[in-house]
Amino acid sequence: MLMDVHRRGNLRFPQSLPEFQRLFPDDAACAGYLEKARWSDGFVCPHCQAAGEPFRFANRPGVLRCRKCRRDTGLTVGTVMARSHTPLSVWFWSAYLVSSQTPGVSAVQLRRQLGLSRYETAFQILHKLRAGMVRPDQDRIGGRPGEHVEVDETWVGGRTRGKGRGVHDKVLVASAVEVRQRKPGTKLDKRKGGRYAGRVRLAIVPDRSAESLCGFVECAVVPGTSLVTDDWSGYASLAKRGYKHLAIAERGDPQVAEEYLPIIHLVFANLKTWLNGIHHGVSHQHLQAYLNEFTFRFNRRFYPFNAFRSLLGIAGDVTAPTYAELYSGAWQHPTCWGCG
Ligand SMILES: [Zn+2]
Repeated sequence: MLMDVHRRGNLRFPQSLPEFQRLFPDDAACAGYLEKARWSDGFVCPHCQAAGEPFRFANRPGVLRCRKCRRDTGLTVGTVMARSHTPLSVWFWSAYLVSSQTPGVSAVQLRRQLGLSRYETAFQILHKLRAGMVRPDQDRIGGRPGEHVEVDETWVGGRTRGKGRGVHDKVLVASAVEVRQRKPGTKLDKRKGGRYAGRVRLAIVPDRSAESLCGFVECAVVPGTSLVTDDWSGYASLAKRGYKHLAIAERGDPQVAEEYLPIIHLVFANLKTWLNGIHHGVSHQHLQAYLNEFTFRFNRRFYPFNAFRSLLGIAGDVTAPTYAELYSGAWQHPTCWGCG
């Protein structure tokens, strides 16, 4: 079973926590997965390069000892689990919940679902896993022949409780999303004309000016890509900036929006539902981190095992920011529109 998890990329991602827990029932199972991820052809000692079955310890599943040089190798080195006293299985189960659960998961929920005794443990785990999502996908989307990208902006509401419904609390979020076409004849090709979302980019922008909106597009989308937007003047210079631009006169007509910008409106609807589900809205200070988390999960929704591995740092390509970086504002605009 464990071999399957590692070897088969197309293995169905567990649809529930109990199902996941049957795949990874204990720390030894998790350690086996880490070992296979690192040495698919069998253990090689990083100290002396000797290959061969290492010593294993029932009470220390995260450690392998070389039979030749007798030195230990930690399985969690280089992962988010390194130097943690939390059992591997708790890390795995937490990463499963974070990578799969659409509304996100709070420390309170995590503690309850995993039966953890301390809130602080749940908070620390979640915090470290989320840090792996904050590094945004840096490459630009689009650029595929025959595919276009929808671009739009929307107001995302801050906290409204006790403050009325003032626009002053709202934050402007720009987004670009790849539009893909299902193969004709597949079961789902009837919905939305067979169109579905590819990758998404989301960023806070200061206003609806051309500088802000086109600046976002230039950072998020490969030049030359076909873009569909509404006919707001802020997008008017996109053709001049090297894109194939189709501006649609929406005029508040939902029929037109459904016809030309259906996918991005779906993304915004999903985003707002999710944000509203988190503590009834998100403050401006933390919004970009949540946009990154949404983007991370959205762009990996067809590859949840990749998301899971990436969260735990198993893939080895996660450079997690520190807590200070996360919330100091240094990461406020990581997706870049200010990079030029
Ligand atoms: Zn050795």
